[in-house]
Amino acid sequence: MLADKDRIFTNLYGYQDFALKAAQKRGDWDKTADLMKVGQDAIIEEVKASGLRGRGGAGFPTGMKWSFMPKAPTPERPNFLVINADESEPGSCKDREIIRHDPHKLIEGALIAGFAMRARAAYIYIRGEYIFEAKVLEKAVAEAYSAGLLGKNAAKSGYDFDVFVHRGAGAYICGEETAMIESLEGKKGQPRLKPPFPAGAGLYGCPTTVNNVESIAVVPTILRRGAAWFKSFGRENNHGTKLFQISGHVEKPCVVEEEMGIPFRELIEKHCGGIKGGWDNLLAVIPGGSSVPLVPAAMMMDVPMDFDGCKAVGSGLGTAAVIVMDKSTDIVRAISRLSYFYKHESCGQCTPCREGTGWMWRVMEKMRTGDADIGDIDTLYDVTKQVEGHTICALGDAAAWPIQGLIKHFRPEMERRINDAKGDNMLEAAE
Ligand code: NAD
Ligand code: SF4
Repeated sequence: MLADKDRIFTNLYGYQDFALKAAQKRGDWDKTADLMKVGQDAIIEEVKASGLRGRGGAGFPTGMKWSFMPKAPTPERPNFLVINADESEPGSCKDREIIRHDPHKLIEGALIAGFAMRARAAYIYIRGEYIFEAKVLEKAVAEAYSAGLLGKNAAKSGYDFDVFVHRGAGAYICGEETAMIESLEGKKGQPRLKPPFPAGAGLYGCPTTVNNVESIAVVPTILRRGAAWFKSFGRENNHGTKLFQISGHVEKPCVVEEEMGIPFRELIEKHCGGIKGGWDNLLAVIPGGSSVPLVPAAMMMDVPMDFDGCKAVGSGLGTAAVIVMDKSTDIVRAISRLSYFYKHESCGQCTPCREGTGWMWRVMEKMRTGDADIGDIDTLYDVTKQVEGHTICALGDAAAWPIQGLIKHFRPEMERRINDAKGDNMLEAAE
């Protein structure tokens, strides 16, 4: 279990004030200019050496992503940093806590990361529903400007840097990085084909890096305590501390900072007071937010909660939004509800996703209401395969994978449900 002294987010629960004075007492903005003095390439190398992987879900190495940015931007083609605070993945709520209670970690991180990538501005794109959090963030940014930590000669570093808070309008798809860029440009938020990746052509066609809130907020602490310190947590390829968000059928749902790779059972026992009704009552877990497949209880117990550990059981760490379902869960209904979400949030741009998400939801609903036939299970699987890998962005895959997980692990339950419904119908007809 992570010791208190090793926690990065020391105000995660808001026991102290989020504002600048209190943040400075916690160590934020302490000699930031000294951290920047080592130079841009040295910062990127340090972040690479720390092993930090993107905390938005995909786990792409952060330092490597930064190194794709041009080293000599021109006034006509400046570099940009975009910070993804459009946290909308069902189950995810960690960036919300950072913004509410530790916004200065994010703002200081934006300055350092922006400097390292030779950007002069960062746009923090915050989801529309985070109304309170947007206000906190705007207040913290204003405080940083007033204190000379942003703007001209930011934090007395000799570097000019601006931060803008941009509020989304409630579309899940705007969390996809290229849709976010389109939205920032004032257009409809629809994903672009990749490549080119944003580092090649991003905001206004200029080199851009899009990073998640948590990825940026941990950077000042990594530089202060050193890459080796951050790397000492977790295991090869899965380093550092991480915010886990545990929801569902646990005694105490929570957001907690832990060491990467903590076994699932230990995470739940130590921080959530166990599973409701005991461990025998656990049915299944979605370990990383709704875009990754569910895992049945028996396979999940000893899984190290990191990228490779979750991958090894056919799922993913994603945003580390751990959704716990006990045996009272109607698993077909739960996955059908997710299907509705993806159908609703599809931007409609590509046919397999626009049509496929609707098909998947409708067949899932037939399963839920007892109107399906046994053959519909294979039809459903076939539709998921037609969607997976055939779309512009990851939403298509995200819609297909929970259903594939359901069929893979809970096919007998689906069949039982269909057969029971058929039996009930025959009884009704006979009566
Ligand atoms: P991705 O793998 O396409 O990209 C991840 C990042 O790495 C991007 O910034 C991308 O530009 C960069 N990248 C990848 N390959 C690259 C290359 N060859 N060259 C340069 N840059 C490269 O994944 P994605 O579609 O951005 O994200 C999918 C993930 O998002 C899912 O795993 C899901 O867990 C997560 N997600 C998170 C939320 C949330 O609320 N935080 C919501 C939905 C989905
Ligand atoms: Fe839009 Fe879906 Fe295509 Fe993504 S996969 S671009 S959400 S239609």
